Amino acid sequence: MALLAKGLVESSAKRTLSSLGDRSQYIGMSDIGRALECPRAAVGKKLFGNGAGLEVSQHDLASMLGTQLRLQRGHWFEAGVAQVFRTQSLPVIEQLEIQAHHNQVPIKAHLDFTFVSAADQPTVRILELKSCENIPSTLYSSYETQVYGQVGLLRALWEKPAFGVHGEPDMAGCSGLTFPELCRKMLGIQMPADASLVDIEAWVLCLSMSEAKAFGPYLPDKSMLGLCLQTAEDLWTLTVGVRSNGGDIFDLPTAKGFHALCPWCDFNADCPKFEGVDQPQWSPDLARLARLKADVAALDREISEVEDGLKTAYMLSDVGGNWINVDNQRFRVSSQSGRRTLNREQLRLELSAILGEDDCDTLLARCESEGKSFERLMVSKINRPKERSHGI
Ligand code: SF4
Repeated sequence: MALLAKGLVESSAKRTLSSLGDRSQYIGMSDIGRALECPRAAVGKKLFGNGAGLEVSQHDLASMLGTQLRLQRGHWFEAGVAQVFRTQSLPVIEQLEIQAHHNQVPIKAHLDFTFVSAADQPTVRILELKSCENIPSTLYSSYETQVYGQVGLLRALWEKPAFGVHGEPDMAGCSGLTFPELCRKMLGIQMPADASLVDIEAWVLCLSMSEAKAFGPYLPDKSMLGLCLQTAEDLWTLTVGVRSNGGDIFDLPTAKGFHALCPWCDFNADCPKFEGVDQPQWSPDLARLARLKADVAALDREISEVEDGLKTAYMLSDVGGNWINVDNQRFRVSSQSGRRTLNREQLRLELSAILGEDDCDTLLARCESEGKSFERLMVSKINRPKERSHGI
């Protein structure tokens, strides 16, 4: 387990260096997405990398493995999907790199897959892969920012020598080409010199272990590109400032309110958002709570398995919708109607059209009530770092 955890961290660092280069020397699109969520975590990651300095005790090993497997699943998915596209001989550029400078800030975008077609209407489709535990119903804003940056840069720099691909053992690299030059060189496809003649879209494909969902299209948008570039500049300024002050990220702005990524953040140990006092005497209670929650989760899984088994058995039986009696209990599977929900936004739109916005809001406010406030216990993991070594 320890060898696997260490190997995952090291192989990830090597792969990142070979495919994305030295990430401390530029701002990438994922840095921009992260900075919009939490500038402190984004700067920390640029300076100290991803978890390389984390202390790994035997106790934490399973959780660290879990984190690494989650982080690296994306690379493995990408390699598998690339294989699928290669088998189909599709006109696709893998890991297209776009280099830009904005107010002296070096920026690079790496696009997982860029499909190109000159037939009829010249077309470019960017596909960004994301691996997820569960497919989200709406796309995270950090992913959207990333693809808006990618598609915006591709459109804006189309005729500039800003494009290339990294060399791989089985693929020659190149750089400093315009996008039409790169298409000619890599795919033998002649694209127009004028980007306005091309239909350009970006899509995000979310993959879990058993599901897939595509989000898009995301079109080139000047204001979204402007936001990306401004965020890149702000992040670069913060990073350079922190590097010159000895690497102290303590006072940088943090994510506001609840942030789902805080428990996974490598910089949460000394994050000012979680300012607190040491009281180690509560350790046995927290450990017991964690054990009990794990027991509940395991019980829930077991209950689902038994219920699924009984449902399958009922479906395969020939009792014709009757109950099955078992000693002093009985069971049956029947169809239930789904839960009815009220779409508040839709209702607001419809009422506004009839009553006008002000009366509609007053009416909705009169019909709404707020439940009693309650105490909620929040327990969150502290990722204690070893001595940090500077990435830049
Ligand atoms: S713990 Fe949360 S708020 Fe603090 S740096 Fe990490 S992501 Fe930002």
